[in-house]
This record gives sequence, structure tokens and C-alpha cells, in this order.
Amino acid sequence: MQLLDGKYVSEKVKLEIADEAAAFLAESGRKPHLVAILVGNDGGSETYVASKMKNCEKVGFQSSLVRYDTSVTEAELLQKIEEINQDAGVDGLIVQLPLPKHIDPEKVTETIDYRKDVDGFHPVNLGRMMRNLPCFIPATPYGIMMMLQAYHIDTVGKHCVVVGRSNIVGSPMSILMARNANPGNCTVTLTHSKTANLKEMILQADIVIAAIGKKNFITADMIKPGAVIIDVGMNRETSTQTKSGYKLYGDVDFENVSPIASWITPVPGGVGLMTIVGLLKNTLASAKKEIYS
Ligand code: NDP
Repeated sequence: MQLLDGKYVSEKVKLEIADEAAAFLAESGRKPHLVAILVGNDGGSETYVASKMKNCEKVGFQSSLVRYDTSVTEAELLQKIEEINQDAGVDGLIVQLPLPKHIDPEKVTETIDYRKDVDGFHPVNLGRMMRNLPCFIPATPYGIMMMLQAYHIDTVGKHCVVVGRSNIVGSPMSILMARNANPGNCTVTLTHSKTANLKEMILQADIVIAAIGKKNFITADMIKPGAVIIDVGMNRETSTQTKSGYKLYGDVDFENVSPIASWITPVPGGVGLMTIVGLLKNTLASAKKEIYS
């Protein structure tokens, strides 16, 4: 088994991003600027947003955090998004999910200007991705594609089984893996909670992408020897053994699956770090007007 090391790849890509950000600053007199909106104080969301902000600073971006209490109304939030949409000094805008129940995430996603939608969730970006046109690719799938590329994983003609069909991970991942591109050119099976014979499906996979949200859901008996395993899961449990007070688990039973896999991502240290790189790449591309003018 070999590790698909998110720390190694993400640090390498961040150095390249930092160089480009410095060149952008020299040319334009400003830094690429990412704004994140965080509603409430969910522990996981706090950690993810803090990490995104910290990484912005690391590569020489400006980052701003707009915080709201869970009592914020949908109208107030949408109004703020409209305001940021109009701000020429902002290149990327993300709203950390999940949102409180009284706020419709679809409305939020559609209100963000697609030209600043560096999470790649807006229907315009998803539609353009579908048609293989320049767009912001959702940050997690983008990060996974960069990881596969960095390790020269051969995907052509392989059977890729994606477990999970969310709009932000599973569904876009299935489209990217099926595209006529490299990485890509896979035969893709997209599975979900209603899939019959899930174990048999996964057993046929040369590449498994697990985005389920259930700790250690994918076990060794579901894996074909030599398969490539991408574990997107970030299942957070409180722990007395760590300084932070919690521990992250993937959707894959790493201990028992890794001996039979050819390549595997660890959790933490895998896809999560690459997601941040995807976000930074999109923000830089937005600042440089590489996708939309
Ligand atoms: P969602 O909850 O939106 O989607 C989960 C998917 O898993 C659904 O499609 C669901 O099926 C499917 N599923 C649930 N139970 C089963 C089952 N028993 N058998 C087969 N399929 C099942 O989750 P996300 O896609 O947002 O996230 C998935 C995981 O990835 C989470 O742990 C999340 O924290 C993590 N994540 C990690 C990121 C990173 O940067 N590493 C970024 C984003 C997410 P159905 O549609 O039928 O309900």
C-alpha cells in the first residue's frame, strides 16, 4: 500500500499558489481576497473555516470572516451576500455549510455571484463543469483530481465507484471521473443509500471514492485487492486523547483496508487538505480573471 499524502501534495501546491499570489500583488497592487461567512458556532464548521482563513494568510491572500449568530434571518444573510457580490475587492465568497434550518441553502448558493463562487456550488458552475467548460470546480472534487494527478494514478478505462451523491462531493466527483480528460475517462458507478447490493458494487471497483459521512463504513471485505481508495469522510468524535478534544475518522476502515489497497488517502492528512488547496486555486483563478472576465 502507498499513501496518497495530502500534506505533501497540498504543501507543494501551496508554494506554487504563493508564488502566483505574490506576482498578482506586484502587478495589481492587491492580494487575492477570500470572504467566508460563518453562521453559528458548530465545532466542525469553526475548525474548517479557521483552517481556510489560516491557509489564505499562508499563501499571501487576504481573508475576511463574516460571522453571524444562528438567529440571523435568511433575508439578512442574502442581503450581505448581495453586498459582497458588488465588492470589486472580493474575489471569492463562501458560506460555510451546514446552515440553520430556517435558511434555505439553495437560495444562499444561488445568490452568490457565480463569478465569485469559489466553492463551485452554483448551478452555473456545475452546469459548465458538466459541459467541460471553464468554471470553478467544487473544491473537494477539484482537490481529489489534483491528488490523483500528483501521483500519476492511471484512471483511464478503470471502474470508479463513488459512494454518496451529494451536490458538493459525490455527484460532481462522478462527473469529473467520467469526463474525457486526465484524470478521468473512468467508467463510473454512482451509489447511494438506496443502492442494491452495494458491497458487490464496491467490490468491482478499481477506484473507490467514499463520501458518505459514516465512520469506517467501507470495510476490507468490500474492497478488490489493489484498488485505489479515496476517503472523503470527516467524521468528528470527541476524544480525551487529543489536544483539540476531538478525533477525525474517515468513511473507510483505514487499518484493515490499507493492507489490500494499492493507494489510499489517510484521514486526517488526505482529502481535507486538498479541499483547501482547491479553494485557494479557485480564489486565485478568480482574482486573475482566468475563468470569468
Ligand atoms: P451528505 O450527507 O450530503 O451525503 C452523503 C451521501 O452518502 C448521500 O448521497 C447518501 O445517500 C449516502 N449514504 C448515506 N448512507 C449510505 C449508505 N448506508 N449506503 C450508501 N450510501 C449512503 O454528505 P457530504 O457529501 O456532504 O459529505 C460526506 C462526507 O464527506 C462527510 O463525512 C463530510 O464531513 C465529508 N466531507 C469532507 C470534505 C473534505 O474536505 N474532506 C468536504 C465535504 C464533505 P442518499 O443520497 O441516498 O441519502
